[in-house]
Amino acid sequence: MESTLKRTWAEVDLDAIAHNYDVLRRRMGQNVKFLGAVKADAYGHGSVMVSRVLQEKGADYLAVSSMDEAMELRNNGITMPILILGHTPKEQVGRLMELHITQAVTCQAKAVEYSAEAVRLGGTLKVHIKVDTGMSRLGYLCQGPHFDTGVDSICRDCALPGLETEGIFTHFAVSDEPGEDCERYTRAQYDLFCRVIRAVEQRLGHAFAIRHCANSGAVVHYPEMALDMVRPGILLYGCGDGAAELGLRPAMRLKTTVSTIKTYESGTDISYGRMFTTERTTRMGVLPYGYADGFFRSLSSRCTLMSADGAVPQRGRICMDMCMVDLTDAPHVQVGDEIQIFGPENPVENLASIAGTIPYELLCAVSKRVPRLYLRGGKVVERELLLRF
Ligand SMILES: *Cc1c(COP(=O)(O)O)cnc(C)c1O
Repeated sequence: MESTLKRTWAEVDLDAIAHNYDVLRRRMGQNVKFLGAVKADAYGHGSVMVSRVLQEKGADYLAVSSMDEAMELRNNGITMPILILGHTPKEQVGRLMELHITQAVTCQAKAVEYSAEAVRLGGTLKVHIKVDTGMSRLGYLCQGPHFDTGVDSICRDCALPGLETEGIFTHFAVSDEPGEDCERYTRAQYDLFCRVIRAVEQRLGHAFAIRHCANSGAVVHYPEMALDMVRPGILLYGCGDGAAELGLRPAMRLKTTVSTIKTYESGTDISYGRMFTTERTTRMGVLPYGYADGFFRSLSSRCTLMSADGAVPQRGRICMDMCMVDLTDAPHVQVGDEIQIFGPENPVENLASIAGTIPYELLCAVSKRVPRLYLRGGKVVERELLLRF
């Protein structure tokens, strides 16, 4: 089913995804494998369509956060390797093996469970060992006094039956943040990761096929940390720090249309809470775009959107399904005209910074009632709406 409305929609430029992939690949060189982070529906861009592009382009790996996300890809023609970064219950080990999905192993207890289940089913589960080098989230704790016990546990688990340890990885906490302290922290994480790998490989007598740690922050700031594979997410979508400098293109244009225009006298209170009062005769447009579409109510009266006639300030409380924009200084904008919420002409980074957040959150927030239109060569090649008709 597809929406016939021209309400609010997201145009996903698949050529931009392909372009960003090419640029990143060129930056890292042909000897470095490329894993595209397509978790959370490819940061709101549509994981199936993005993964199809990556598969066509010859990317090496995809990463998702859960079994459901991995199955969505497998059910839609994606045959390339997929790594699940988050936890998968041991009851799913059979399915992981059947669908050739690689699972991150984050601690001894999980390794033991996965091993037992794989052995019971008579199969082999491909895994990547996750090392905690300072993110303090998932992974074998290897920092400071935990180095020896961490290495011991990893060695023991790599030898468990039913597991094929293809890779080892870690995740950076501040690779995308400026400042000497962050640089020192990232380098310390990297050094620790390399020491763990050396110790484990020495003990096991063989090397890991895929060692990886570089997220987008590291691809931008520390390309020398690529190891065997990089794992960019936000850069692939053309957003985040350094994206513009690298010549990447934002892949999503989130658009809406002006549904109504009214002119108010000076002194008119606008929307819930009367937080904005007109100070002049004001030509106010209503946009069918609210917090249920993924706008942040905290941005009320604090941001501007982009019309063909220039930037237009959003005014008054953002509602569930609508918001208002001041069109007084954009006199050519008429009912039915398009407004860009974010995209190349109104960078998502600006909105994110005003909202006190990161572009990831705004991209992931684009809700399921917003249809995705996929473009190639400037033409719509596919549409997707996540509502159940
Ligand atoms: C999400 C994620 C990435 C990608 O992060 P970006 O900052 O978007 O590049 C890489 N590795 C892991 C483990 C992740 O969870």
